[in-house]
Amino acid sequence: MKILKSMVSLFIMLCLFCADPSVHAEMIKRTEVEPTGQVIWNIQTPKKIIALTFDDGPNPVYTPQILDLLKQYNGHATFFEIGYRMECYPSVVSRVVQEGHELGNHTMTHSYANRVTLERMQQDIMRAQLLIEKWQPNGPLYFRPPGGYIDQDLLEASHQQGYKIILWAWHQDPRDWASPGSDKIVDHVIKQAHNGDIVLLHDGGGDQSQTVEALKTILPSLQKQGYKFVTVSQLLKMTNH
Ligand SMILES: [Zn+2]
Repeated sequence: MKILKSMVSLFIMLCLFCADPSVHAEMIKRTEVEPTGQVIWNIQTPKKIIALTFDDGPNPVYTPQILDLLKQYNGHATFFEIGYRMECYPSVVSRVVQEGHELGNHTMTHSYANRVTLERMQQDIMRAQLLIEKWQPNGPLYFRPPGGYIDQDLLEASHQQGYKIILWAWHQDPRDWASPGSDKIVDHVIKQAHNGDIVLLHDGGGDQSQTVEALKTILPSLQKQGYKFVTVSQLLKMTNH
């Protein structure tokens, strides 16, 4: 029993470690890269716009609930979905696109750039892109590296293939994947809200019911403050990127 218990806790620890998408170990220098426009964290704009982004779906339970809420508050968002999950739930992906949202590339199998070769990363990105193009044939080419891991080689390779790397505002990672409580997610996003933010949320990867619950407050509260919820493309149109 004891052995079983410790095996279970080890498994949970490993899962948490593997699923940790909030690690900011970007192996590039923001100050050098941001001016090039190849990597985006957030943008400076006088307009009250925010780009909500959802990673690691599609999920047949949570993604539709998020889409319902976005519709209710006239919002649009960008979904960085995992390729193999898109293969599992194509009708959910269709709905994302039909309702005016945007798809971004989050690799085929959620590969971390610090754990696999550059070649493997590129294959994983390419396979996911081929899938995305079924729904979104005219782009845009957005890539969000799992865990935020991006090194100079991957950055250069992605840039050559026409991708823009979309990360998230450093102050807008409420770690919803860890189920901290929907109130905590709400507080984090609302208190930190700034024009031009890219907010990191998740529609897949685990139990995202707290994310859904949090959105029921985040969307009306920020809307009341005058914010509009836009896709990353719409956000970037506000700058020269
Ligand atoms: Zn992810």
